[in-house]
Amino acid sequence: MTPLPPIAHHPGEDLIAAYVAGALDEASALAIATHMSLCPCCRRQAAEYEALGGNLIDALPEAAMSDGALAATLARAKAPAPQAISLSAPTKNALAPSSSIVLPAPLRRYAGGDVDAVKWRPLGPGIHHMPLVNAEGVTARLLRIAPGRSVFDHGHGGSELTLVLRGSYSSQGERYARGDIEVADESVNHRPVAGTEDVCICLAVTDAPLRFDSWIGRLMQPFIGI
Ligand SMILES: [Zn+2]
Repeated sequence: MTPLPPIAHHPGEDLIAAYVAGALDEASALAIATHMSLCPCCRRQAAEYEALGGNLIDALPEAAMSDGALAATLARAKAPAPQAISLSAPTKNALAPSSSIVLPAPLRRYAGGDVDAVKWRPLGPGIHHMPLVNAEGVTARLLRIAPGRSVFDHGHGGSELTLVLRGSYSSQGERYARGDIEVADESVNHRPVAGTEDVCICLAVTDAPLRFDSWIGRLMQPFIGI
């Protein structure tokens, strides 16, 4: 079994801490849970935060628990599948790099199976998508981009998380492959291009409509609803 190349792009401490605290919306939590299912190092970090959080809660006098903290705890208890990932043990999928499974377990629950179960809809030349989550104004969708194709130039009204699941893409001089996650905010204006070696399948999470710079993007935006 050939080992996976190490993941080069991680979500960063803030997002992992927010995930552990149950403070992320469903779509973002899904992206972080899926990244962690592929990334032992972020899983370790999350487990450390979780232990730290438990210790902090244990140290608090009962009366210090604010309404907000209670609400956050309850929200976390009600949180859907992505929050339920095991932080202590790698998932089966993470241990099977040579398997043909493309979608890690947290995503398969949303997609109804692996990529062969995905009901792709055309989004543009060489690009298909399948929306998975739309909650609290944040959307998660799978994107499938033909080899060498580019997603239209776009900026962001808010932030965007893109997690690669198959193939690769390049953006702003960086290459992103399976497990890598790109965090882009409103200051980033980029034109991701899929690698030529394979189709690129990724999970894209956006918290505001994208701002398309190309005429075709602007033309299509009202119709495709992104
Ligand atoms: Zn990571």
